[in-house]
Amino acid sequence: MSQVERQELEEFRGFYRRYYEDDIAELAQRYPNEQRSLYVEYDDLYRFDAELAERYLNKPEDMREIAEEALRTYDLPADVSLGQAHVRLRGLPASNTIDIRNIRVVDDHIGSMVAVQGIVRKATDVRPKIVEAAFECQRCGTMTYIPQSDSGFQEPHECQGCERQGPFRINHDQSEFVDAQTIRVQESPEGLRGGETPQAIDVYLEDDVCGEVTPGDHVSVAGVLHIEQQTSGNEKTALFDLYMDGVTVTIEDEEFEDMDISDEDVAEILELADSPDIYEKMVDSVAPSIYGYEQEKLAIVLQLFGGVTKHLPDESRIRGDLHMLLIGDPGTGKSQLLSYTQNIAPRSVYTSGKGSSAAGLCVTGDTLVHTTDGIRRIEDIVTPDIPESVETETAVERALDLYTYDEATGETTVASTSHVWRMPPKPCRRIETASGTQLETSRNTPVLTCGDDGPEWTPISEVEAGDHVGTPNFDGIERSSPATDESAEDPDGAPAMTDGAVGSTDGADLEWDRVVTTVDTGEKELYDLTVPETNNFVANGVVTHNTAAAVRDDFGDGQQWTLEAGALVLADKGIAAIDELDKMAEDDRSAMHEALEQQSISISKAGINATLKSRCSLLGAANPKYGRFDQYEPIGEQIDLEPALISRFDLIFTVTDQPDPDHDAKLADHILTTNYAGELNTQQTEMTNSEVTRQQVEDVQEEVAPVVDAELLRKYVAYSKRNCFPRMTDAARDAIQEFYVDLRSKGADEDAPVPVTARKLEATVRLAEASARVRLADEVTADDAERVIEIVRSCLQDIGVDPETGEFDADVVETGTSKSQRDRIKNLKDLLREVDEEYEDEPGAPRDQVLERADEVGMDRSKVEDEIEKLKTKGDLYMPDGDHIKVV
Ligand code: ADP
Ligand code: MG
Repeated sequence: MSQVERQELEEFRGFYRRYYEDDIAELAQRYPNEQRSLYVEYDDLYRFDAELAERYLNKPEDMREIAEEALRTYDLPADVSLGQAHVRLRGLPASNTIDIRNIRVVDDHIGSMVAVQGIVRKATDVRPKIVEAAFECQRCGTMTYIPQSDSGFQEPHECQGCERQGPFRINHDQSEFVDAQTIRVQESPEGLRGGETPQAIDVYLEDDVCGEVTPGDHVSVAGVLHIEQQTSGNEKTALFDLYMDGVTVTIEDEEFEDMDISDEDVAEILELADSPDIYEKMVDSVAPSIYGYEQEKLAIVLQLFGGVTKHLPDESRIRGDLHMLLIGDPGTGKSQLLSYTQNIAPRSVYTSGKGSSAAGLCVTGDTLVHTTDGIRRIEDIVTPDIPESVETETAVERALDLYTYDEATGETTVASTSHVWRMPPKPCRRIETASGTQLETSRNTPVLTCGDDGPEWTPISEVEAGDHVGTPNFDGIERSSPATDESAEDPDGAPAMTDGAVGSTDGADLEWDRVVTTVDTGEKELYDLTVPETNNFVANGVVTHNTAAAVRDDFGDGQQWTLEAGALVLADKGIAAIDELDKMAEDDRSAMHEALEQQSISISKAGINATLKSRCSLLGAANPKYGRFDQYEPIGEQIDLEPALISRFDLIFTVTDQPDPDHDAKLADHILTTNYAGELNTQQTEMTNSEVTRQQVEDVQEEVAPVVDAELLRKYVAYSKRNCFPRMTDAARDAIQEFYVDLRSKGADEDAPVPVTARKLEATVRLAEASARVRLADEVTADDAERVIEIVRSCLQDIGVDPETGEFDADVVETGTSKSQRDRIKNLKDLLREVDEEYEDEPGAPRDQVLERADEVGMDRSKVEDEIEKLKTKGDLYMPDGDHIKVV
């Protein structure tokens, strides 16, 4: 030990005596089972000796050793030893508290102690890590002890007893282990402006700080920043990763990052709240570039403010958060509305269901893959690496060149895999095309199909007979020079389609093949390839999407992440805007049911059970099942969402896109003005010789700017949620009660459907409370009630109506089956049984006969055909040979 170190050791002893006498006495009592660390506040150390404190920040590892040595050798009661106790510094100064996205190598943070704040995005299990390995010689039994560090596992060169080279066996009892865990800390969502990708850093934890946090927790982590060279396979690359050795992890008070609201802000907020047209002002501040949608925007405003969460005497609670769903035709501005909302809502997250279905995209073992070495069965490709069946999805690194489709150019190119996968059985579906190609994949695996606007990805479960799937033209690959005519360069241009066998498109590498049959084939073992460049490969000749990036990402670092916080958890106490909800993986969606009602998500995976908080509001958007709305069918049948999920939404808006000259003219004017404002602005800033003046720009922008800017609106909402907890007035209560009873009474007839359920009543109350909060009012008035009743009624009119009868019907929303449809099913089943009995010697009721008979009794033929299909998928009936039907 050097002179300086001895001196530092003395300094720490003095420091402990002065500030930590009691803490150390307590630690000594609780050590080692209940407590193993002495927590030292930076401020204390700084007060004791500023220079020592600063040295600690700059050389944390050396200083920590000295601080721990001082602790071990501290004057303790005779029989106590603090052999392995840690010293953990916390409460770092602002100078060393940095944003995750600002961590830069050049800033010289490397090797020093810093603190970051964020949300725990993922966590691994707590696992034992060997710190000193005992190698038992298999020849002479001598133990050779080797300390282990993070830079690879060290084995003995020779046995300390017999000096031979082993073989050795690790003796677990004689080895020393410590708990280890890795967490990924991501920037908090509210710190981000719309569209920014959150940055994250991995933090390694050891011993007593492991297992203390769960994904979704807001934490502040102090630790030592390191860089580490990335490897690809066994080779080092030029890139480095940043990570942190965590020293202390503190779960922050939930409100810790609430925004600062200054006195001036409050004054401005109070003045706004007083204005008579505050609701209009608010509505005009939501996505001003989107024309119309006053009701939807008002609903979004109400969602921002939220109702009051009620805690009942029996400890149960009623959620105050509002959940909303926009279902609508494509191109009607849903995504824009969502991303704008994410921009103005504190603590919000925007994701798209398209990207959030991560794992489980895969094909069956027989599938033929076009590799550069020829066509091979995927099972034969994978099994050398993963010979046994697996219980969880398993990947192994493996480079293999194969043909894949490049979305950017629309051509077939050669790319390399990074991993091969083997997966446990999952429900599968098989499609067969006109040219005789068959493809069987897990139900959520997307294949390339021909959409209205060109190639698009469609989960195989949604591919139907008559759709076209993309099959690369392998003659094209053989050609030495790729096609250069225009159509090949325009990936958007939908290639011409031919019915029947394979149709070719001029010059492009892709051809479209018509699907003739689809069939669900039950659970099968599956295989997959990860193709980082293009995310697809050619399976049985069809372009098939590979495992999503989210999963691949986690394999780069060899970490076994076991718990992950999804959007709903990340948006705890905020808004989760989830676009393309219908494209989300079924599993992810079913986890949402619980989240939406209980406001928490339970995860039980690989033996761990965790409950993650998700007290967020969901703003969802979805497209109708058939792309565009059919107003004559119940929405329950037009969106691919489970009725149980749909019924959790407080408000569901349907957005149809029907030509209407008057409306279209206004919409066009609005969009053109918005664009013009943008053009002027760009010209003024980009072109030095622009004739546009600042004044002109400001004038036009005035027209399209939000009335309350996003920054102030965010503060307004935060202020209201913090200070405003309105109560119902009698008048409001009466109005809501009357509305509800009136709706219900329409269902009082014995045979009439139940028009609405109590869920809608609760929704109305929440909305009315939110309406009061917009004014920062303490009371929910009759006006608030009227305002929201109008919205609820209009939403119900749009969706809660049985289109066949025009009556309100709760079942349309809550079960996806209207009463008239239920009746029809019952009648149909009766009819099927009847016909089946008549044709006793046949294997079931002949299909033709059933349809004919249905026609006779006045059932709509196409509806009956529809119903038969549906009952078949539900397993309520089956067709033994294609021509006959049997009821189960
Ligand atoms: P969706 O998600 O419903 O398919 P998008 O949000 O992607 O639709 O909108 C497509 C484009 O049309 C966007 O550029 C959007 O700005 C524009 N657009 C659609 N409806 C409107 C509207 N009512 N006002 C202004 N722009 C609109
Ligand atoms: Mg969209």
